[in-house]
Amino acid sequence: MRKGQNMSYNFFISSNIIFGKGSVAELPGLIQKHGLKKIMVVYDGGVKAAGIADQIVDQVKASGADYVIFDGVIPNPTNQVVEQAAALAKDEEVQGFVAVGGGSSIDLAKAVNVLMTNPGKIEDYGGVGQVKHDLLPLIAVPTTAGTSSEITNVSALIDTEKVVKYVVIDNRLVASDVICDPEFTRTMPVSVTAATGMDAITHAVESYISNMANPLTEYNSLQGLSILYRNLPKAVENGEDMEAREQMMLGCIITGFGFSNANLGLNHAIAHTLSAHFGLAHGMANACVLPYVMAFNAEACPEKMVEMASTIGIAPTGDMEKDQYLLSEALLEMTRKLHIRTLSEQNIKREDFDMLAGEVLKEVPLQFNPRQGVTKEDVIGILEKAY
Ligand SMILES: [Zn+2]
Repeated sequence: MRKGQNMSYNFFISSNIIFGKGSVAELPGLIQKHGLKKIMVVYDGGVKAAGIADQIVDQVKASGADYVIFDGVIPNPTNQVVEQAAALAKDEEVQGFVAVGGGSSIDLAKAVNVLMTNPGKIEDYGGVGQVKHDLLPLIAVPTTAGTSSEITNVSALIDTEKVVKYVVIDNRLVASDVICDPEFTRTMPVSVTAATGMDAITHAVESYISNMANPLTEYNSLQGLSILYRNLPKAVENGEDMEAREQMMLGCIITGFGFSNANLGLNHAIAHTLSAHFGLAHGMANACVLPYVMAFNAEACPEKMVEMASTIGIAPTGDMEKDQYLLSEALLEMTRKLHIRTLSEQNIKREDFDMLAGEVLKEVPLQFNPRQGVTKEDVIGILEKAY
């Protein structure tokens, strides 16, 4: 037990996880287990183009269930897309969901699922623990290794009116079943592998130092970091390295257990703001600021920074003044190696920093950040470094 750590804590996991090559063959059995007669299959164009959607639909057909397709998933899904998909799901009287894809598809399906059994609009459920009624069965089939949405109790959405990316966090959102077939990540392009993998590393690091962390989340976050850090460069270098692909998927699940319970922090607060205002992909938005946010946070949790550095194979020197930055330095090196773009390379303008920093301060994940009392100037300083 860490000094000063609360002795009582909560750790929630509820998903049935089926992991391994060919595990998609389990899908018909899962649909039958839940007794689903009509399903909505949710995916995006990329999943369709990769030929994965057809494989899933074939399995749904094999279950004997009727189905309706929603293929209008967009990156950073909006309230409008949620409402559109929910209207279709209600019209068709679906009894459950199969969500195939990255975080956007799975987050969208979770949000639609909320509206199947809860009244009102999806934005009514923003924040933590606002969902009143249990949801319909949701089977998640991830095709990226990054968001851990297949494991978490989070749905991240864009409110286009308020221009904000917000989160619905509730244990009721957790998928009932997860099918993790590493084969589905084989076709992920290099840049997506890098960005989504860095998102996963951000989850491991942020949840490890979160002020909600407890021994069970810390165990998962640290183990996840170790696996992800070792395997991401391999998966980026050679997308056909199926051992690395499999390990990335495994790392995401383990990390998901950690951050679904410990939450995230300042890094995701900045990333959400960048996505909401300038449409940056979630993984890229996280990756480009990660080394600087960790350097900023180091003074609030130097021991944990050293523990994470040791986990990824960097031995401390014994000089805490320097050692607390070993992790942020390693992360900077990693982002450079993986060609993560700077803010200027992503067309973010310096004149928007003041507005962005103001928006970051309103973000929900900030409350879980280990370094509290973050100011506008602090955020601008981080954005300057990431420019
Ligand atoms: Zn993330």
